[in-house]
Amino acid sequence: MDFRISEEHEMIRKMARDFANNEILPNCQKWDEEHIFPWDAVNKLQETGLLTCGVPAEYGGPGIDHLGQAIIAEELCRGDAGLGTTMAASTLLGPDPVYIAASDEQKKWWYGKQMEGVLSAFCLTEPGAGSDAGGLATRCVKDGNDYVLNGTKQFISNGGVAGLYTVFATLDKKLGYKGMCSFMVDRNTPGISISPPENKLGIRSSNTTQVIFEDVRVPAKNLLGKEGDGFKIAMKTLDISRAVVGAMATGVAQGAFECAVQYAKERQQFGKPIASFQAIQFILADMALMCETARLLYQKAASNQDQGLPYTKEASLAKYWGGEAAMKVSTDAVQVYGGYGYTKDYLVEKYFRDAKIFQIFEGTAQVQKLVIAGDVLKA
Ligand SMILES: Cc1cc2nc3c(=O)[nH]c(=O)nc-3n(C[C@H](O)[C@H](O)[C@H](O)COP(=O)(O)OP(=O)(O)OC[C@H]3O[C@@H](n4cnc5c(N)ncnc54)[C@H](O)[C@@H]3O)c2cc1C
Repeated sequence: MDFRISEEHEMIRKMARDFANNEILPNCQKWDEEHIFPWDAVNKLQETGLLTCGVPAEYGGPGIDHLGQAIIAEELCRGDAGLGTTMAASTLLGPDPVYIAASDEQKKWWYGKQMEGVLSAFCLTEPGAGSDAGGLATRCVKDGNDYVLNGTKQFISNGGVAGLYTVFATLDKKLGYKGMCSFMVDRNTPGISISPPENKLGIRSSNTTQVIFEDVRVPAKNLLGKEGDGFKIAMKTLDISRAVVGAMATGVAQGAFECAVQYAKERQQFGKPIASFQAIQFILADMALMCETARLLYQKAASNQDQGLPYTKEASLAKYWGGEAAMKVSTDAVQVYGGYGYTKDYLVEKYFRDAKIFQIFEGTAQVQKLVIAGDVLKA
């Protein structure tokens, strides 16, 4: 067993880390404070190819494997988890239903737009259906060569900035999971509107809105898979993307950890750097442990995906533990900074606010435990 990552993955990491150091970290506090969606940085990310890292090579993309995608997500979120969320939602979560279930012709259409710089979003959650995604109420009714969509999607990352959506709807709620369908939808289709962006605790540079469908006619050729495949496609999408969310959370933990180490060496109290106190050293040691274990878990889950090995439990372990690590490490980083950590002058308070989302989206911490327990009991 070799725990080192390949030279190619190291190069990908370096590229994403350099982008975070040069383009993200100098600007992210302003984006957060002023609630800015950073189009300049998003466009630069597109130019580097990092924004389309999930587009397969046969459709003109960089064709980076799952491990590489997760490493990019970690490094971008070490800079700013808001921009990392924009990237992950656009190139991974939004397109994953296409990756899983689309025909060649559908992929050409979708990936072609992504390569032109069009952002995408994944529309599953509804006001009445969060953890219970199978209980969604958005309707799709076949009418001639179209399906007509009606319903409201809640908390959609990139909802207001995407040009492409993957949307989940039901033929009939009474059919339960078996009634769910998945569609590729062009944002310019008449009948689609969006709410103003949510005013969030963290990841404030990401755009989160409702997406509302009122008599939206989607061509039947945009159905992914068959009628009734929607639930399977949604669950498989979340399985794939949870390794990446574990990686994103690891990036937040790592960013807060690096700040804490540096500050502990610089800050003097009682005539010495606070890093010389064992109480602080133990905090830093615990942080190192959380970052390292979170990284190993997401790398294992992503590698399993690349090697065709089972990854459902592994992805939930990575997502769950990444969220715990991000929360614990960022909370302790504020502690290491003392009163200064409680101000907006230092990045650690932003890491602390950004961290919380990783225990909520793409399945809450409790839902991850349900998935893990289900797998353990099945075995
Ligand atoms: C910033 C942000 C971005 C998001 N981006 C997207 C996106 O791009 N696309 C998308 O489709 N969705 C997105 N979401 C939605 C997100 O995935 C949901 O918020 C999440 O799945 C939880 O659903 P909920 O908020 O309705 O909470 P609920 O499901 O109402 O849960 C409330 C509480 O009950 C607990 N709970 C629920 N059911 C159970 C159970 N069976 N057992 C134990 N505990 C349970 C939960 O763990 C939680 O603590 C986003 C959310 C946010 C906040």
